[in-house]
Amino acid sequence: MRFPFALTVKIARHIIKHKLARTPKFAMVLQLEPLHTCNLTCTGCGRIREYSTNLKDMVPLEKCLTVAEECEAPMVSICGGEPLIYPKIEELVNGVLAQGRIVYICTNGVFMRKKMRDYMAAVYSPEMEPRLQELVKQDLVTGKEAEQIRKSDAAARSKVVIRPTQWMYWNVHVDGLEFTHDLIVEREGVFKECVAAIKMAKILGYQTATNTTVYKETDVQELDDMFAYLSSLNVDGHTISPGYEYDAAKKDMVKRLGKQPEDFFLTRKMTRQKFAKIQEWGEKFTIFGTPVYQEFLAGKRELTCTAWAIPTYNVKGWKAPCYLMTDGHYDGYREMLEKVQWDKYGVVDGVARDPRCENCMVHCGYDPSGALGTNYQRGDNWKNFRYNFGTKPKPYQATIELTRRAFNGVSIGKGHLAEAKAAINSPRAAMNGAQSVFQRREEPHDHSVNGESNGVCGSGDTSQRDQLLAKIADPKRAE
Ligand code: SF4
Ligand code: SF4
Repeated sequence: MRFPFALTVKIARHIIKHKLARTPKFAMVLQLEPLHTCNLTCTGCGRIREYSTNLKDMVPLEKCLTVAEECEAPMVSICGGEPLIYPKIEELVNGVLAQGRIVYICTNGVFMRKKMRDYMAAVYSPEMEPRLQELVKQDLVTGKEAEQIRKSDAAARSKVVIRPTQWMYWNVHVDGLEFTHDLIVEREGVFKECVAAIKMAKILGYQTATNTTVYKETDVQELDDMFAYLSSLNVDGHTISPGYEYDAAKKDMVKRLGKQPEDFFLTRKMTRQKFAKIQEWGEKFTIFGTPVYQEFLAGKRELTCTAWAIPTYNVKGWKAPCYLMTDGHYDGYREMLEKVQWDKYGVVDGVARDPRCENCMVHCGYDPSGALGTNYQRGDNWKNFRYNFGTKPKPYQATIELTRRAFNGVSIGKGHLAEAKAAINSPRAAMNGAQSVFQRREEPHDHSVNGESNGVCGSGDTSQRDQLLAKIADPKRAE
């Protein structure tokens, strides 16, 4: 099976319950953003640019748990910002799991190994020794860290930690192979860290997934290689979605990078071209998402947006109409369902009801449409059933050649693929050797929007963010 049986049953029961009750609109996945602070500044990220965040802008733990209960979604995707920066992330994950929901932790991967070392320190016993030695052997844990795990004190042993369970996935953000990914996240070394974190997670028995956003300049062949490489790491599944042209990200791009948004974001037509092979990928790799949504991405059918099925809750409340666009925030999920004029949004028969929806084909608007039978066509249910219950594609064997292609360089730190590609291909780069061109320029960058300072990306108050990051890195020192 592509998706574990127990989890499939849980979701199917939820849909059947609401179909029988004729509930017109209900939640499938809650996108829970406990904070918008992030340690990265990815080029296409609307989140860190739309919301100026600081330490006081966090959803309290109790509120997070209440809203998960309120909307009753069987799956909760804890995102942000970087959710592993949230000081009560362990309590949040365990609290949502205790409610009987499936949890995805959508992370950029940078703090994952730290969280897994915390887990090992909390539960260490001699039975764990072979796995710990394997982690050291593969350079995923240092000898010193291994010793700290073995000699964990009472505080480490009593810490609430994120444990492996079939009900939870680490969902790691990977937008391409090393060169592309590090460029998009605007920091070198992040791809390597993601790979290390995924390897460690698999050794410890965690379920892992990846999520990939496709931009105009994403190379389709590279995506093929990326899925093959991730599959060789035994990643349990992949989500892939076209990028959305966030207003704030577009403005930032023009101002900071001197780029035109149309050079970066996809139109509908381009999305269909990029996703022409999505069904082939679905056969070769464990792509999450229904085959009906895959047909939509490949341009073989239309779907109607069901943004209400993947609602977002953040520091300002229930965000309407969707994860991408903000026309208002509401105090309650029901209130949002009732007050939002849903028929103002989406694209119907090729005509955008709202111009901001024109190029949108993202999974949070349209993937649930495939599962919920919106625009139902004969055979859709069977198609979805067969895809999910069909044999899970076998992991790829990583060849030396594939690994070499995966680790294909580091970024030049300009945050835009076209510039990087031009730099690599330039005669000067060839003369000087690519390495000199790849060197990251540590320029201070301004993220003001419309001339008004929006703070440094994802920080609001940088001193508070830095304090928080230091605390994550070394809790004892920062206290
Ligand atoms: S990791 Fe990147 S995409 Fe995710 S919240 Fe941070 S800046 Fe945005
Ligand atoms: S079409 Fe896209 S942008 Fe428009 S409401 Fe739906 S999810 Fe949001």
